[in-house]
Amino acid sequence: MNTHASVVIIGGGVMGAAIAYHLAAAGVRDVLLLERDELAAGSTSKAAGGVRAQFSDELNIQLGARSLEAFGRFGEEIGHDIGLHRVGYLFLLSTPQEVASFEAGVRLQNALGVPSRMISPAEARRLSPLIRTDGLLAAAFSPDDGHCTPEAVVHGYAAAARRCGARVLRHTEVTGIERQGSAITGVRTTLGPIATDTVICAAGAWSRAVGAMAGVDLPVQPLRRQIAVTEPVPGLPPDLPMTIDFTSSLYFHAEGPGLLVGMSDPDERPGFATDTHDRWIPRLAAAMERRAPALLDLRRTGGWAGLYEVTPDHNALIGEASTVSRFLYATGFSGHGFLQGPAVGEVVRDLYLGRVPFVDVAPLSADRFAADAPRPEVNRV
Ligand SMILES: Cc1cc2nc3c(=O)[nH]c(=O)nc-3n(C[C@H](O)[C@H](O)[C@H](O)COP(=O)(O)OP(=O)(O)OC[C@H]3O[C@@H](n4cnc5c(N)ncnc54)[C@H](O)[C@@H]3O)c2cc1C
Repeated sequence: MNTHASVVIIGGGVMGAAIAYHLAAAGVRDVLLLERDELAAGSTSKAAGGVRAQFSDELNIQLGARSLEAFGRFGEEIGHDIGLHRVGYLFLLSTPQEVASFEAGVRLQNALGVPSRMISPAEARRLSPLIRTDGLLAAAFSPDDGHCTPEAVVHGYAAAARRCGARVLRHTEVTGIERQGSAITGVRTTLGPIATDTVICAAGAWSRAVGAMAGVDLPVQPLRRQIAVTEPVPGLPPDLPMTIDFTSSLYFHAEGPGLLVGMSDPDERPGFATDTHDRWIPRLAAAMERRAPALLDLRRTGGWAGLYEVTPDHNALIGEASTVSRFLYATGFSGHGFLQGPAVGEVVRDLYLGRVPFVDVAPLSADRFAADAPRPEVNRV
């Protein structure tokens, strides 16, 4: 094995794969991506696959919109089918506070070129016929959003990165980061040491441990989230939007002939467990009864659990460490990392190369918590 790399990327999820591709495609030589398991084995393959630009934070709108463009041309640019369904995201709103917050969000999104709009409960039901409109005040819809297959995106980027000269090693865990003073000199791995002066942490829910190897605090906590998949639903509209009852966080979208259904569980505590359990089902059933009772009749045929990688303000950590030279990070996406992968890949490439990225991510630095300058994202599921 070549025991030197110009840059070591830790983590083979959507972030690591997108970063590896963008670096290698920009001509960076000796790019090395290390994944301790299979590619996409972490949170990425557990995601619901939702892609959107409907956020409250200007940076997230821009990262989401840029990624939507990349997902749209993925087949052409990367040569891989990602099963993109541009069916839109529909947020159902039941309180005046939610409506006011989404109205402000839509204004900001429109100013940034995102074609989202507020719609009536009746129009929401025309778009998503399984819902009940009782108690609904309004909805927000953006037709450019949708969903696609997360692991296909990772495999596409990893294959494209390899074609551009990057090395991608699976089953290779990083166990330590070597430093001399503030400079990185290498990483220790289960395959042996690798000399490098640059490390990029894209280790998702496990980033805090990776940051600690370099002496950098990355405040990321793992939080289990579950998904259920249903039997086929006769007569499901082919363009059913990703539908989210914002008050309860119940969401669903078409998954093959059935539905993929998810919801947050306020009883879940931080931890790395990813086994499934049924403790969330009574709350899920209550939310369905209120907002989409037709879902109660559907048999559950499968499901899984995965980890959100959560930061204190539910927004990403993207930047370069201030205390360790050439330690970059892209993590803590708090439930919206899959959809930001393509854009963050570009941004991290530019940070690595010393170029000005298409959007200024300085407010997403991990240092914002010490500086008491959090950056909350409110439009989260
Ligand atoms: C149920 C669920 C639904 C979701 N739905 C959506 C959605 O609809 N839309 C959306 O945008 N996001 C969604 N997300 C969030 C999304 O999955 C994550 O934000 C995103 O996948 C993070 O990607 P990542 O590459 O940073 O992390 P990961 O995919 O977790 O990749 C990190 C990788 O690092 C590897 N690793 C860790 N430590 C080491 C080490 N020391 N050495 C080597 N490798 C290491 C891990 O094995 C892992 O494969 C969802 C998440 C869950 C759990």
